[in-house]
Amino acid sequence: MGVSIGVDEPESALWARALERAGLAEEEVRGLRIGHRSLDARRRGASREVRFVVHVDLQLAAGFETDAGGGFREAVRSGRVVARAAPAELACDRRHASLVGARVAVVGAGPAGLFAALTLARSGVHVDLIDRGPVLAERSHALARFLRTRSLDPEANLLFGEGGAGAYSDGKIYTRVDHPLEMPILEELIACGAPADIAYDARAHIGTDRLHRVLPALRARMQAEGVHFHWRTRLEGLVFDAGEGGRRVRALATSIGEMPCDAVVLALGHSARDTFERLLVQGVAFEGKSFQLGVRIEHPQSLIDAGRYGDAALAGRLGAAYYGLRCKSGQGAAAAHSFCMCPGGQIVASVNVPGLLCTNGMSNSRHSSPFANAALVTTLGRRELGDDPFAGVALQEELERRFFEAGGGDYTAPGQRAPDFLAGRISSGIGRSSYSFGLVGERIDALLPERVRDALRHALGRFDRQIPGYAGPEALLVGIESRSASPIRMPRGGEDRLAAGFSNLYPVGEGAGYAGGIMSAAIDGARSAQRLLEVGVARSLRG
Ligand SMILES: Cc1cc2nc3c(=O)[nH]c(=O)nc-3n(C[C@H](O)[C@H](O)[C@H](O)COP(=O)(O)OP(=O)(O)OC[C@H]3O[C@@H](n4cnc5c(N)ncnc54)[C@H](O)[C@@H]3O)c2cc1C
Repeated sequence: MGVSIGVDEPESALWARALERAGLAEEEVRGLRIGHRSLDARRRGASREVRFVVHVDLQLAAGFETDAGGGFREAVRSGRVVARAAPAELACDRRHASLVGARVAVVGAGPAGLFAALTLARSGVHVDLIDRGPVLAERSHALARFLRTRSLDPEANLLFGEGGAGAYSDGKIYTRVDHPLEMPILEELIACGAPADIAYDARAHIGTDRLHRVLPALRARMQAEGVHFHWRTRLEGLVFDAGEGGRRVRALATSIGEMPCDAVVLALGHSARDTFERLLVQGVAFEGKSFQLGVRIEHPQSLIDAGRYGDAALAGRLGAAYYGLRCKSGQGAAAAHSFCMCPGGQIVASVNVPGLLCTNGMSNSRHSSPFANAALVTTLGRRELGDDPFAGVALQEELERRFFEAGGGDYTAPGQRAPDFLAGRISSGIGRSSYSFGLVGERIDALLPERVRDALRHALGRFDRQIPGYAGPEALLVGIESRSASPIRMPRGGEDRLAAGFSNLYPVGEGAGYAGGIMSAAIDGARSAQRLLEVGVARSLRG
């Protein structure tokens, strides 16, 4: 049921408003839970009244007759109140008999792998979780070293290691995926120290600082449930025996030796290009998919606050403002949109291979930096890339090398002010940015493919009408943003979620091409784990 409250009203005001709207008396309700909360800062005519729109779940008192008359029946009849199903659970009590004594290997400790592993272990399955990177503390040391020396550790960086790609991020966990597994995953994160409002806030985010308390707590919880972690252990190939109804993996070939298994969950993320190549050679199917290319755009946070709230001072009460903008194709330019906006954040070098440059954004929980950044991207698909499944990966790599070299080959990033990007000239004096390795003035408009450049130019003009100054001299483009989505997919066979042609290989998450963020990856991992629990494992022909 939806109600609205002013930004200065206490949450307790929700009780009275929800009861009134549902036509219920206080004694008829056992509890109230916020299901979803979003900020409405839209302009209405000349004025703008900022308020929260809140969806509330009411738990009715025992014995309450739902077909009782009066206001409640009227609220149900009019659609103001709807019945809600009980939330799902991660663990599955329909575990297949073949899983007794079975070992499942999960590859990748990002959200997809972590929640696949937790789902399996909680249902009583032996799980070995391997990741090529280290635990979080060691990973943070490697990153500090990278910042200090500009020397990148290819196995411990912003993409590889405990927590996966989102471990240094804004930790945005809202999603457009409306799935029953979302709530149990959020509850798991809350139990590990994430703030309770992630369960309902439409702009829920955890922030890197808090994520770094949540992830070790999640690891400890998973170990207690029986997950065996193997850090700095890289998957180098699959070892097969032929099973009935498809090829069967009987072990992982890893950097520390062979690891036997009865089924594999592959949760590699989108940047394990070396592993994808190896899997392709071994017969795992891949297909190309559409993905996004563009830049990070950075503004003073105060400019975004003023544009979104109408009054930058409101940020003190409501928090640093967020935006999500999109524009359709027009004037010969493709559609474009903003993505992964980090209020009060920082631009980072999100790379795992020396000699390549790719940007992304992260923030702390308080969104306290004076900068706002977001990806500004357009989508490329089969029409632009052709039929070669790896054409997108090749293009990403070519552009990432081009930007690395244009920056001087030491992770300094090319930067260009928005008016200079529009005019096609180098910026004289880049000014301040949050990007730690520094920027060098470069013609980003000339470094990008024309189609991408034109789409971004078109979008900048449109977005400037929505947020005044968006394309002004304070707007800084930094590049390249090439990995906001995976350009490949490992096709899965329908209901069973198995890799095409395999009887026990489950590709999941962003690297498999079925997720685009922390929550969607976690849900995808947990769903495949549940499926595996239902269908069991094909036993080895060895006996
Ligand atoms: C800087 C940054 C900020 C982001 N911010 C957000 C955000 O705020 N909100 C959001 O929803 N999304 C965000 N994302 C995207 C999000 O992190 C990913 O969509 C998500 O992590 C994908 O989850 P995954 O489990 O599929 O893969 P990943 O998280 O990429 O995890 C894959 C794991 O597999 C491991 N691995 C890879 N190859 C091998 C191998 N051969 N052997 C063993 N292990 C291997 C890697 O070490 C890694 O730990 C951000 C990404 C980045 C880089």
